[in-house]
Amino acid sequence: MKKVDHIGIAVSSLEESLPLYTEVFGMKHVKTELVETQGVAVAFLDGGNVKLELLEPASPDSPIAKFIERRGQGIHHIALKVKNIEERIVEMKEKGIQMIDNAPKPGAGGASIAFMHPKSTGGVLMELCEKREELS
Ligand code: ZN
Repeated sequence: MKKVDHIGIAVSSLEESLPLYTEVFGMKHVKTELVETQGVAVAFLDGGNVKLELLEPASPDSPIAKFIERRGQGIHHIALKVKNIEERIVEMKEKGIQMIDNAPKPGAGGASIAFMHPKSTGGVLMELCEKREELS
């Protein structure tokens, strides 16, 4: 578990936020996907050595909508690339990390994901992310 897979950024509107990343920063917008289980529309950006995911709330009761309401737009989470996510969840718990998700759930891009509680990670929402097939 050494690589950062992606950084999740909460935005109010993909349409308004994308030009900053594509036109100003010159990143490639790979695709946009609606992840209904998470209540978000996700725009994948190729940031070279790390991917960025812009997260737009798909409904008013989405966790991203609540995040933006409380804290405004900005960095939402950092995702670590893992293999055998079930084992990593057990390992994290053994190491004293409080998990939000005790079992993997489906995330964007066909990934299996599990979030750690920011209380036990110094205020940063960290995600474990296992991809079935490599997209890039
Ligand atoms: Zn993520």
